[in-house]
Amino acid sequence: MNFLIMGPPGAGKGTQAEALVKKLGIVHISTGDMFRSAIKKGTEMGLKAKEYMDKGELVPDYVVVGMVKERIYQPDSVRGFLLDGFPRNVVQAEELDEMLKEAGLSLNAVINIVVPHEKLVERTTGRRICRSCGASFHIMFKKPQTEGICDNCGGELYQRSDDNETAVNNRLYIYEANANPLIGYYRAKGLLLNIDGDQDINKVMEDILKNICA
Ligand code: ADP
Ligand code: ADP
Ligand code: ZN
Repeated sequence: MNFLIMGPPGAGKGTQAEALVKKLGIVHISTGDMFRSAIKKGTEMGLKAKEYMDKGELVPDYVVVGMVKERIYQPDSVRGFLLDGFPRNVVQAEELDEMLKEAGLSLNAVINIVVPHEKLVERTTGRRICRSCGASFHIMFKKPQTEGICDNCGGELYQRSDDNETAVNNRLYIYEANANPLIGYYRAKGLLLNIDGDQDINKVMEDILKNICA
């Protein structure tokens, strides 16, 4: 099974994706995580992407599309995958269709997490990420057992450089400009599942599972 999870910055995509891939035994393909890992390694692509990310802007389509294409052709993707953070606009969605077609694959469903705009700034600015495994926590809504330490792997938690109010507002603005056409694209294909993301983390997971198994 191949899925896509979408929603505004801070909607809970990464949080739900982490639990979902464990449950379903599929691969998590997060373009944001892939860029952050490229930055950590200091690759040329990572350095280029960082300029856009720090401002809260989108990395150019051709860079993201090339990176996802390479990832989808990795052997572990045959188990099924959950794409998180890609596509972010209709151009990317069309490119995704093209690459899936070439690979003889298709999407089973698109999980769209819906959260009111006013909740998103506090979710993103309070987010803390594990340096080692990328898991996300929150200073109020998902506190780690020990402050500053990842529950999963003991790694150090940090605040993403783009989780400041200026970059977050820019990301929300860009998201809102692209969201409706993208949502329309998948609704027309009959793949869209709207999930209320303004609930307890576990309840959101329950709703996702109910919908994708329906
Ligand atoms: P995204 O990947 O969509 O940007 P995350 O999964 O990283 O979002 O979640 C953003 C922040 O909000 C994180 O700090 C996370 O712990 C927290 N969070 C996720 N889901 C919920 C929820 N249902 N209720 C409250 N906080 C949440
Ligand atoms: P969030 O869920 O908080 O928006 P992500 O981790 O998904 O954050 O993405 C962080 C940044 O990485 C984005 O603001 C953007 O600069 C870049 N990025 C990730 N995915 C894409 C994409 N599909 N297209 C363009 N840029 C992307
Ligand atoms: Zn960790």
